[in-house]
Amino acid sequence: DTKQAAKEQKVIKVGTEPTFAPFEFQEKGSKEFTGFDMDLARAIGKKLGKKVEIQNMGFDALIPALNSGNIDVAAAGMSITDERKKAVTFSDPYYTSGLVVVVTKDNDGVKSIKDLEGKKIAVQIGTTGADKAGKVPGAKVTSFNTNAEVFLELENKGVDAVIIDKPVAQYYLIKEGKDKDKIVGDTMDAESYGFAFKKDSKLAADFNKALAELKKDGEYDKIYTKWFGK
Ligand code: GLN
Repeated sequence: DTKQAAKEQKVIKVGTEPTFAPFEFQEKGSKEFTGFDMDLARAIGKKLGKKVEIQNMGFDALIPALNSGNIDVAAAGMSITDERKKAVTFSDPYYTSGLVVVVTKDNDGVKSIKDLEGKKIAVQIGTTGADKAGKVPGAKVTSFNTNAEVFLELENKGVDAVIIDKPVAQYYLIKEGKDKDKIVGDTMDAESYGFAFKKDSKLAADFNKALAELKKDGEYDKIYTKWFGK
């Protein structure tokens, strides 16, 4: 009867934080949620025969929203970590990522995270980038609700660097920060993104099954190529 329970729920409430292009974002002037995670979540919903409703919330509000039942899934480029696994259940990984340091183009003093000791770093609140920044000796870390604010702070010279997910930094550099910012140093901390659910949610297994089907039938590859190229 787990199948029955899953069937009865016709709408899947998805929570996301949409300043994380190309995974989840809104085009200027549009309220629609777009991006790799959004396409994937909608494709999974389709496989499961359910309507996907996407809600905008703070990244640090996603796990509490899962646990209170306000949303059924978090689709937010959320890295699968041991710490989070204590609070939520993750789907199988669907994207491999990692963290990088971003500085303004004219900054020749920072070549890697080692050069950030005692420096100012901007991060998004509640992220793995925030955890990483918190471990840099003597660094002064400022947390923002959105990544738009994080990059703005860097470009306003409020901070020396940003620590953020590599694919998001790369996309931002191509789209907006090309003449302003650069990535320095190596990719740190291999991370995998997963969809998150309330602990022991039956929906996690449904998502895994649908995800496996999408990988098999080529739909996952199509969505991947749309956002990341070949
Ligand atoms: N992958 C990072 C994390 O899970 C950042 C996610 C995000 O900012 N949306 O913390």
